[in-house]
Amino acid sequence: MPQPDAIVIGSGPNGLAAAIALGQAGWKVTVFEAQPTIGGGCRSAELTLPGFVHDVCSAVHATAAASPFLRTLPLSKYGVEWIEPPVMVAHPFDDGTAAIIERSIDATAAAFGRDRESYTRLFGGLVRSWPRIEASVLGPLRWPRHPFAMAAFGMRALRSADGLARSTFSEERTRALFGGIAAHGLVPLDRPLTAGFGLVLGAMAHIVGWVITRGGAQKLTDALVAYLRTLGGEVIAGHRVTSLDELPPARAVLCDLSPRPFLQIAGSRLPSSYRRSLERYRYGMGVFKVDWALDAPIPWRAEACSRASTVHICGTMDELNRSEHDAWAGVAPERPFVLLVQPTLFDPSRAPAGKHTAWAYCHVPSGSKVDMLPRIEAQIERFAPGFRARILKRAVASPADVEAHNANYVGGDIGSGVCDVPQFFTRPTWRTYSTPVRGLYICSASTPPGVGVHGMCGYFAAQKALADAR
Ligand SMILES: Cc1cc2nc3c(=O)[nH]c(=O)nc-3n(C[C@H](O)[C@H](O)[C@H](O)COP(=O)(O)OP(=O)(O)OC[C@H]3O[C@@H](n4cnc5c(N)ncnc54)[C@H](O)[C@@H]3O)c2cc1C
Repeated sequence: MPQPDAIVIGSGPNGLAAAIALGQAGWKVTVFEAQPTIGGGCRSAELTLPGFVHDVCSAVHATAAASPFLRTLPLSKYGVEWIEPPVMVAHPFDDGTAAIIERSIDATAAAFGRDRESYTRLFGGLVRSWPRIEASVLGPLRWPRHPFAMAAFGMRALRSADGLARSTFSEERTRALFGGIAAHGLVPLDRPLTAGFGLVLGAMAHIVGWVITRGGAQKLTDALVAYLRTLGGEVIAGHRVTSLDELPPARAVLCDLSPRPFLQIAGSRLPSSYRRSLERYRYGMGVFKVDWALDAPIPWRAEACSRASTVHICGTMDELNRSEHDAWAGVAPERPFVLLVQPTLFDPSRAPAGKHTAWAYCHVPSGSKVDMLPRIEAQIERFAPGFRARILKRAVASPADVEAHNANYVGGDIGSGVCDVPQFFTRPTWRTYSTPVRGLYICSASTPPGVGVHGMCGYFAAQKALADAR
């Protein structure tokens, strides 16, 4: 193999973003990927039946469309097409209705009754200030370029989602809708900072839309790889790095790894104090995921759910709180909060004519062995009677399966580590991307700004490597 300038271990969106940022600076980069397929949390496969394409991990790519780095890349030239559904997210209730978020703030708020003004004020203000705060929100902790705008955002974001929802909204429906969005953060909603997830993901629904990628998540990865190749980079799949010692010499090694797999390959080179800090890094709740091949669309009772790519299934805020608390406390929820995506309603290319797919997961205790399939399907059936009759085939992934697919997701934690106050700003240690070993970096979602397909962790790690090399 010709000697690379840099090696990236792991081909998730952050690994590929790091490789591209280094390639753009003229470095020759080799990416090693353990799995036979490239993309980490951004892959698609025929998990159920031939012709049915499912997203193995991420399905909704709002953070990719909003990413300050990814949006500078010629992704459309390499086949990426975002599909914006008419409704970003729907949240059905037991009375057969649903609360929804549309791209337009006014149209969304118009359906919120007494919460119309509060919603418009909250999200209208956030969307207006987004260009001034995005660099701070989607980057490492540093002095913001627009401190007043950032302070206004930060004061709300640091609150608990439950507290913000109850103090801002009067209607139970609006509270539950906001709570469902905030629950993507994988932390119980009465904890500080959980409002931040609700605010950022909620704002993205209005800024770029909760888009899906035509053809599936793999198309985004394929485009990143195709562009990387034009920069002279290469990706070697099916090659698990078991120790840094096996790598050819390079100016920098960037690891798209969360601390536990990172320690396995680099531990012997690290000073003991840094090793101990990484050993203290906390992983959170896991997920239990199901993919379905369906004979027909999901028969939602609330018509609005059939216009949404994403549906949050949990009914009220109380039910949502109970589910998240149980999973956090080590109890598999009886009525889990289910996050469901139905891509084929808007992207028929992913299934044979007239057929459909659905993707869903719920939060469970780390490493939980409880079979959540009956509980997930019961939740969907509750809001879409007749759903089970439309199932052609299922593919189920327990937390252990999720970790087996990707070593970063310890115990099934798709956030690559808990995103709470003690661990949000200084992920995975105060050094963030750097390590005490010269030329060795961490570039995964275990660094700021954390979970999601945005590539910003990889971008910033690459900038650090380039700056150190200079
Ligand atoms: C079920 C699920 C649903 C999700 N839904 C969404 C969503 O809808 N939207 C969203 O934005 N995000 C979602 N996410 C989160 C998102 O996928 C991750 O935050 C993102 O992929 C993290 O990117 P990364 O590059 O840091 O690491 P990863 O994508 O985790 O990639 C790391 C790569 O490193 C490889 N690797 C590990 N160890 C080694 C080794 N020793 N040698 C070589 N390679 C190695 C792994 O195989 C993997 O390919 C979801 C994740 C999961 C699992």
